[in-house]
Amino acid sequence: MGERIVFPSLCGNDRLRRLFASDAQDGKTAHAYVLEGPPGSGRHLAARLIAAATLCEHRADPDSPLPCGTCLSCRKILGGSSVDVLTVSRGERATLGVGEIRTVKETLYVTPNDGERKFYLIEDAHLMTVQAQNALLLSLEEPPPYVLFFLLCEDASLLLETIRSRAPVLRMERFRPAFIEEWLEKKYPDADRERLVTAAHLANGALGTADSLCRDGGDTLEDYRMASELVRLLLAGRRSETAAYLIALPLQPKDRMRMRQILTLARWAIRDIIAEKRGGTLLFYSERDGIPPYAKKISVRRCADLIAKLARAEEDIAANVTPSLVMTALAANA
Ligand SMILES: [Zn+2]
Repeated sequence: MGERIVFPSLCGNDRLRRLFASDAQDGKTAHAYVLEGPPGSGRHLAARLIAAATLCEHRADPDSPLPCGTCLSCRKILGGSSVDVLTVSRGERATLGVGEIRTVKETLYVTPNDGERKFYLIEDAHLMTVQAQNALLLSLEEPPPYVLFFLLCEDASLLLETIRSRAPVLRMERFRPAFIEEWLEKKYPDADRERLVTAAHLANGALGTADSLCRDGGDTLEDYRMASELVRLLLAGRRSETAAYLIALPLQPKDRMRMRQILTLARWAIRDIIAEKRGGTLLFYSERDGIPPYAKKISVRRCADLIAKLARAEEDIAANVTPSLVMTALAANA
């Protein structure tokens, strides 16, 4: 008998799969799970798959994938139409406050509609205030037997120890750019290759982010191209051309965030040149293609110097120095 297929629609994440499968096998799934990872890393999908798995009509059949994805319960939970999956979010507020947690408590003892369980997806759990965490703690300590909580967060260390001790932390896998590139190529066989490579490198290891960058990442992809060109000019040492390029960037003068983004990306690119010399992982350039030929002869010392100057320019822009002055100085000194 082969091993059972668990979470068929989730990419990678073998550790999470194994943890959950062994919990389920022993019939001791937790009352709460912390799903940790950056946005776009599949936390919502994982939560829905776990929820579906606990109610799947074929959960006792070892020959069926878990969840099966086709029974009524699976279709409702995975399709987002189950009224027993409740999402708690902070809306426009900066933190998730005690008010939102109070609404959880008010509905906690309302029994599930369809199946034997109901689920709370608490988004941005790392932004819960301490009062909110303490309020939630009471529910985590003695939840009704049918309730399963998912705490979706970017950084589990921001949760109180008392919460973490009641909810196992499941970390979403971060994928390497080369893996994301391949995944995107399969999903978008006709897409422009540069677009795929760029999205794979800007995704910070998250497949969902890569996917949305690929589909509608207009500005971000454009920033990447501008950073590439800036690095090419800087490395060529053509000061007047670099200055002309920087001044003519099609950005609004008040668009400081984007200017900083372009400078940050340029810094990543130059960092890659050093990384390649030392056998490290590339962050900006594609691992398959490596750094561009014109970057190969640049010394580590020159790279370090450019990184410092780019960082300085970023700081100046953050400190409200007029961007055109910063850019002129960067070109003149680089
Ligand atoms: Zn099912």
